[in-house]
Amino acid sequence: MKPHIKTIIICPQCGKPFHFESTRKATYVNCPACSKTIPVRAKEKHVKVVCCPRCKVYQPTRATVRFKCRMCGYSDRMDALKIYYKTLKSRDATLIAQKLNEARKGK
Ligand SMILES: [Zn+2]
Ligand SMILES: [Zn+2]
Repeated sequence: MKPHIKTIIICPQCGKPFHFESTRKATYVNCPACSKTIPVRAKEKHVKVVCCPRCKVYQPTRATVRFKCRMCGYSDRMDALKIYYKTLKSRDATLIAQKLNEARKGK
């Protein structure tokens, strides 16, 4: 199972929630219901799960610009890191990070 970057956006115009999937730095997304253009990077409330390039530990982070590893202290730009999961619920991010770490150890 490959984790996807998926987030739910609620359209401020028509109030309909829709899935938004992104691998790039998307700035705007169009609502599929009313086609309103919605900025998606205005505020970062999401928790993202990233993998530290140095110690390979998956962990949730709210960083938007700079990531700092809680395990080894490694620091890198968020742009440079792969985001494995993105959610508004920090508990989900913690669980995903745990599962990814367990899967990594299992190999
Ligand atoms: Zn809409
Ligand atoms: Zn690390």
